[in-house]
Amino acid sequence: MAEPAPALLALRDAVNARWPLRNKASDGIMGDAAHQAAGTSDHNEGNALDITFDATNGPDLEALAEALIQDARVRYIIWNKRIRNREYEAGAWRAYSGASPHTAHMHVSVYADRRSDTSPWDFSAKAPALMPSALSFAAIDPKPAVVFVAVVVGAGALLAAFSLLNREPASPVWSWS
Ligand SMILES: [Zn+2]
Repeated sequence: MAEPAPALLALRDAVNARWPLRNKASDGIMGDAAHQAAGTSDHNEGNALDITFDATNGPDLEALAEALIQDARVRYIIWNKRIRNREYEAGAWRAYSGASPHTAHMHVSVYADRRSDTSPWDFSAKAPALMPSALSFAAIDPKPAVVFVAVVVGAGALLAAFSLLNREPASPVWSWS
């Protein structure tokens, strides 16, 4: 039975300490049933950590990815339809077209032979601007459902405004019967 990589437990603790209010809804290390079925996920070996996207409480995953890719333990990162490997193109982002767009969380894989290295994760020093930011939120494509709701709400507000404008003046005589 695989165990979570100590290096990733240390990373998770460091992220929790730096952003104590962050949402953890999409967090995870060990593979769930879907990952196990997929067969090859690093989560099955405990060598991958998912960090939830939270535009309000952080972290700014774009900046965090920038810091983490500089750490020799990190093998690759997937975030917002892109992937970056330390070993390819000097860690530059490349397009990612996997089944999950990875917009709800960022995936961080570590090398199996470095999984027990619990050296401090000093991402704050490497990316001092790490704060929640509207930038990474804007980078996410709005989900179709969100757009639909926005359109419906917008249309409703327009209809309400028109009906207010066209309404008969209220009677000055109040009556309760
Ligand atoms: Zn993952």
